[in-house]
Amino acid sequence: MADTIFGKIIRREIPADIVYEDDDVLAFKDLNPQAPVHVLFVPKRALATLNDATPADAELIGKLILAAAAYAKREGLDKDGYRAVINCNEHGGQTVFHLHVHLLAGRRMHWPPG
Ligand code: AMP
Repeated sequence: MADTIFGKIIRREIPADIVYEDDDVLAFKDLNPQAPVHVLFVPKRALATLNDATPADAELIGKLILAAAAYAKREGLDKDGYRAVINCNEHGGQTVFHLHVHLLAGRRMHWPPG
């Protein structure tokens, strides 16, 4: 897949406010936050979209979501709750084509989303 701005963040070629890292996942604050807490969880091994995921990626995607949940718990966001979102392609509102999970918290979310 083509390189993206998230690849550059993973390689430390451009700065980001990194809040979590392990062997498989990097998490950093969204530049344009949509909630008081807005963190992006990105797999270091890139997939462009959720469409590109295969059963071979199940463990990686599981780790990505569990990293977001663990961060929420660590930050005390779990009781009030939060939203974890993966946008896919145009109708999903995806703008960066390196799969990522948005963790949004710190305010009440609305449903259905806009
Ligand atoms: P999506 O629209 O689901 O592809 O989400 C992409 C997100 O990346 C948006 O919420 C952007 O605000 C965010 N974003 C873009 N560039 C950066 C950056 N350099 N650092 C942090 N977040 C970014």
